[in-house]
Amino acid sequence: MDSQKIKLDFPFFKEHPNAVYLDSAATSQKPKCIIDFLNTFYSTQNANAGRGAYSLSTKLLKQIEQSRNVVREFISAELDSEIFFNSGSTLAQAQIANCLLTYFKDGDEILYSPLDHRSFVDPWFDLQRKLKHFGVNINLVPYQIRPTGDADINDIKNKVTKKTKLINITQVHNVFGTDADVHLLKEIRESGVFINVDAAQSVGHTKVNVVELGADFLSFSGHKMFSSFGVGVLYINKNVQEIVSKENLPQEKGTKDYPGILSLAMAINYLHDIGLSNVHTHLVDLTQYALASLRELPGLSFTKGVGFCPCNDGYGIVSFNIEGFDPLDVAFYLSQHDIWVRAGDHCTAKSDNQVNAVRCSMHVYTTCEDIDRLVCALKSLLQV
Ligand code: PMP
Repeated sequence: MDSQKIKLDFPFFKEHPNAVYLDSAATSQKPKCIIDFLNTFYSTQNANAGRGAYSLSTKLLKQIEQSRNVVREFISAELDSEIFFNSGSTLAQAQIANCLLTYFKDGDEILYSPLDHRSFVDPWFDLQRKLKHFGVNINLVPYQIRPTGDADINDIKNKVTKKTKLINITQVHNVFGTDADVHLLKEIRESGVFINVDAAQSVGHTKVNVVELGADFLSFSGHKMFSSFGVGVLYINKNVQEIVSKENLPQEKGTKDYPGILSLAMAINYLHDIGLSNVHTHLVDLTQYALASLRELPGLSFTKGVGFCPCNDGYGIVSFNIEGFDPLDVAFYLSQHDIWVRAGDHCTAKSDNQVNAVRCSMHVYTTCEDIDRLVCALKSLLQV
């Protein structure tokens, strides 16, 4: 895979030829085909789907359903009816919590990691508060993240009780950059516990197969994988749909972000053209290159995660601290060199060992030269 060549697909880099964009976990840049499509849609195809008795409107409705099919195939779901379009990962959690509103009984337990993204944690505390009003007390039981940055499956297994109804697990962590062995929870799932997977940082970075993972719920956002903002997906397994109250399932009522949905299907085709396995291999190589280069810097320490993982893997996320420097100051310093990274808690939920680090995140257009520029700027900061 030639990332220099791929970079040419992204007009952003023509506009900012000197920029090193290392914030793809926040949002990816968009390829020209998506930008052109959105422009064409609004110029020539704009109509409300299925509302009108004219071809633009009826055709759009058909295209939305074709996009649902493209997404279904992309994540290897069985049925189109398992795919719900929404505005993204954050909304998905509120939708799942709503789905399970009448499912939880007094004393039921949810397992979660306090180090996960806030959007994957907070809705469950909100649900706990709501249910309390109705005399239903559910417990949120935290599990550990290993130093390698992935969910500690043994800790999860030890914490599962007869009262456990749901396990929330992030497939690829947005700061630590390693993937959890979600499939190892299958045994627990077979005993009737739902598995809810946050795939915001894995879909579009590697092949995600909901059946192999053993996911009951799985969510992701299009904007992190080249589509426009405002569109995302919630997968709900058909068996779950039979168990939970039908009226609590997400409703795709009202006008949606139709061009966004179509752009998501286009983004999937764009990824297919590059080849998902090529994307993942590129991200592994870049991660390993970044780790090896950054490791040389005095005073630099990696957060939990891929820096501590003996595996030769990665999803293009590397987070670190530099002794004596506040992460935000490092990020500001880098921005003065046109290197754009993120610093801070990265929306991890509030916990005792709150994350505070610099994060570099990459995608198909990131090159080794970008990493070299980062390392060079950090060397000048450190005066080495
Ligand atoms: N989960 C993870 C792991 C994420 O990285 C993010 C985005 N940073 C989200 C959830 C929330 O995604 P969105 O803001 O698109 O809803």
